[in-house]
Amino acid sequence: MIIAGAGVSGTYFARLLKNKGVKFTLYDINRRRGHHCAWGTPYSLMKEKLDKVGLDIDEYVLCRIKQYYINGVKIELENFVVIDKPKLLKDLGRGINIRYRRIILSKTRKKMVVNATGKPLGKHYKIVTTQRKIKTVKLEEKTVYIHINFRKTGYAWAFPLNDEGNLFHLGAGCYGCSPTLLERELCDRYDIETKEADCTCRRDINIFKSMIPIVVGNVASIGEAAGCVYPITGERILSAMETAEWLAHSLEYGTYPQGYLVRVEEMQESYNKIWKAWKLMNTHPRLGWVLGLVDSMKRSKFRSSPLVTKKAVAGIVWDWMVSLI
Ligand SMILES: Cc1cc2nc3c(=O)[nH]c(=O)nc-3n(C[C@H](O)[C@H](O)[C@H](O)COP(=O)(O)OP(=O)(O)OC[C@H]3O[C@@H](n4cnc5c(N)ncnc54)[C@H](O)[C@@H]3O)c2cc1C
Repeated sequence: MIIAGAGVSGTYFARLLKNKGVKFTLYDINRRRGHHCAWGTPYSLMKEKLDKVGLDIDEYVLCRIKQYYINGVKIELENFVVIDKPKLLKDLGRGINIRYRRIILSKTRKKMVVNATGKPLGKHYKIVTTQRKIKTVKLEEKTVYIHINFRKTGYAWAFPLNDEGNLFHLGAGCYGCSPTLLERELCDRYDIETKEADCTCRRDINIFKSMIPIVVGNVASIGEAAGCVYPITGERILSAMETAEWLAHSLEYGTYPQGYLVRVEEMQESYNKIWKAWKLMNTHPRLGWVLGLVDSMKRSKFRSSPLVTKKAVAGIVWDWMVSLI
């Protein structure tokens, strides 16, 4: 078996196989596997994943988030951390020989090829993102800053990379508009002064087009290639790892491909409502955002435990109404 892509899904999958004594070869096109330096993720859910492969999540926490601002409205959080991605990928891949070369999926004759490249086999949309590390002054510590432009299909973020509140990831993702514009709006809104940029870590995010193919011939997709990205926020390292677990499980118990397909299709179906909201954003962005925010809030309730007060909801609704003017 070969695994193409040593980002989060490919390396986690490789680790699960290695722990079970299964033989494979892992490839990546890029020595900077997985591309960027840090992720925001719910602590308890990531802990469950890392416990399974004997890693201690606390070794990878760069910052414990206590609150975030959405368009100036403060919401407290209980279960959200920023993870040191390169360190985690390095430790997940420990003892695994990674070969650096591009894999062309259609030309690979191996009995089984795992597509962990982040690129789906079927048609999909690309959200253009920017992301860079910045040093700042005047920001609150352990705080995420979010700016939504309700007239666009996208948003901008500033994620802390330490507990002191002076090092952030500044980024934006947008479909059909300029992420740089959203970044600028975020900096204006929160009065963020960028002192220095010392890394750029960006790539497009692939959003699946309702029910993309998962298993085609000898190729099985996991992670973003299997449509695991949540269309509104563009995040989902956890579901990328989940798809890796499902594939490993179905191979171990001889239920592949059916056993694997059922799980991924369930996940894709659960995204269908939000997928429609995302599509609506492209024609009626303000309306799409209402549906998108409601769904994101509902989901995050069980993931990062935000304390959403009536005052916070009123603040966001007010900002949304201002966008109508
Ligand atoms: C700017 C940005 C910020 C994000 N922030 C968050 C966040 O805060 N929280 C969150 O949950 N999610 C976040 N995401 C989404 C998250 O990064 C993805 O969901 C996740 O990385 C998907 O994992 P993956 O293994 O499928 O792909 P990746 O992690 O992208 O790994 C794919 C790997 O395949 C390699 N590759 C590609 N083509 C080939 C080939 N032909 N042959 C060999 N190797 C190949 C690449 O070099 C890469 O290393 C963010 C995404 C972006 C773009």
